Amino acid sequence: MNWLSKKFTFVIIPDANQSVQRFRLSGLIIILLPITIALLAACAILFFLLLSRHASVTDTLKNQLAASALQYEQQLSENESHISELQTNLVLFSEQAHAMENKMVEISELESQLKQLAGIDTKAPVSISSLSTVEGGQGGEELPLPEEAGTDLILETSKQYADVLQQMDAIIPQLQHTKKAVVSYQEILQITPTIWPTDSRKVTSLFGIRTDPFTGRATYHSGFDIGGNTGDPIYAAADGIVTLSERDRVLGINVMIDHGRGISTRYLHLHKNIAEVGDKVKKGQVIGELGSTGRSTGPHLHYEVSINGKNVDPVPYIKADRKEP
Ligand SMILES: [Zn+2]
Repeated sequence: MNWLSKKFTFVIIPDANQSVQRFRLSGLIIILLPITIALLAACAILFFLLLSRHASVTDTLKNQLAASALQYEQQLSENESHISELQTNLVLFSEQAHAMENKMVEISELESQLKQLAGIDTKAPVSISSLSTVEGGQGGEELPLPEEAGTDLILETSKQYADVLQQMDAIIPQLQHTKKAVVSYQEILQITPTIWPTDSRKVTSLFGIRTDPFTGRATYHSGFDIGGNTGDPIYAAADGIVTLSERDRVLGINVMIDHGRGISTRYLHLHKNIAEVGDKVKKGQVIGELGSTGRSTGPHLHYEVSINGKNVDPVPYIKADRKEP
């Protein structure tokens, strides 16, 4: 205790020309001073250690955050690209749905035309789309789709596909009905005298009132005459059964075919008859040869069409060439 209470004097001699400095310190201060300095130094070291550790943790967190942000940005970019691709596909699907609708309109119109050809009552084609596009110039600024537009487009496209499916369901029975009607039309066509009975198209006398070539008087001509060469083939104007194949003084060698439904055709002044009574002949089949037998001024075919026993003008019946009955 005495030592602690003792006073110590420190002398500082700076230079020979300057005065000497003296400090008096107690023993207690001399002991406490180094301890305090040591404690302060220890605190400073600890502080710096903690600070450097904290800095290291902060750096790690910063790096992790930067990596996460980068990953997030990449993910975002991928998602955006994916969404853009989906939108492109959606627009494509929508265009395809429109194209399908347009095709359905075309099919419906074709079906309607088919019905007209087959002589079936036609209704207006099913209205599918009031506005359709055709190929041609396009342009304008390309803008990204707003989010709600995408949703609207999905709903619209889905509805379009559903509509097209419904229309397809509706058109199938219509087409089946039309097919039956066309088959029936073809059958009727087959027994209707619509083709030229000769290769020659040289009409020398028409149906109706005419001047008789022998007497010069006005007479009724019951058919029409087609000039040609002796031996030219004479064709059945429709499917049917031969009901007459004879030689007559006035009519010459002649053939008559019954086509059913009250329709029959007659071929006069033949050079030769090939078909016999009872023969079933097909449309376009050769039934005789052109000639000038009977009351005739030269080689020609007198061709008649009669309905329920009454002769009619054959010309309106001739709709097509022989090779395209
Ligand atoms: Zn005649």
